[in-house]
Amino acid sequence: MSAAPHQVPEPAGCSVCGAPLDAPHASDRCPACYERGLRQLDADFLDNYARFGARSRQVVAEACLRSLVLGDVSDRKLLAIAIYEQFTGAATEFLGLYHALRERRDRPIVQGVLGFSLDTARAVAFFEDLESQGPTDLLHSLGLPHPDQIASLKSDLDARERKQVREALREALADLERVQSYREIGERALIGAARGLGSTKALTERTEWLVGRQIEQSRVAALALNAESRHLEVAYLSTDEHALEGVVDGIDVMTRLTRNLIFAFVSLHGPAQFRDGFRFEPA
Ligand SMILES: [Zn+2]
Repeated sequence: MSAAPHQVPEPAGCSVCGAPLDAPHASDRCPACYERGLRQLDADFLDNYARFGARSRQVVAEACLRSLVLGDVSDRKLLAIAIYEQFTGAATEFLGLYHALRERRDRPIVQGVLGFSLDTARAVAFFEDLESQGPTDLLHSLGLPHPDQIASLKSDLDARERKQVREALREALADLERVQSYREIGERALIGAARGLGSTKALTERTEWLVGRQIEQSRVAALALNAESRHLEVAYLSTDEHALEGVVDGIDVMTRLTRNLIFAFVSLHGPAQFRDGFRFEPA
């Protein structure tokens, strides 16, 4: 009497198309099905992000600015720093969207946005692109036309939708011009964040123990350890209301820009373009 045949487990295949998997335990789907699945989410992901998540930095910064008016001197300084952090966050998230849209043919947009990690090169690339190409060509590189081209564009949009997209693109062009004036503060904040200086830092309103002299009344110092250069770095930030209003204004500009770019992008690209990864889009 022969023993029951020994059960050899079937090699696991992709749960969607059944193709054999290279590393069976890492994922239940093959790279092609993974990409296709993410591309199916891109339009809804962008739409939801523009309506809700993209506003978070602006809402927090404005709440801090309101509380700041009522706070005592120490609290005001801490709230001021929270506003700077929102600026860095808004700028980082905007850069993530910018690079994700620009590289939309290489990878799904949701992957570009959620997988974005800031480095020094990417922090300066946006400002350099903006300066060398100008706002209109920058829009083109994101798959977006100049607002004046909307009227003659072949698309399913009705007259009201065309008007909304044209307005969004007009605002985006104006905001790209404005962003150029934030280059200095933007690059400084982003390069700091890229070098990890933004991650763990301590705030102080007294610096005589550290640098031998007292800090100005309206400033606060952020301490961060730079392991590379073996230095304790001290960044001084102004907490006067005029400076902070400028920072909040910068957050507003980036938030509006993010939302307008997404609105125009989602309105002007159909399901087939999202599905095909924008490969057949005129360059
Ligand atoms: Zn598959």
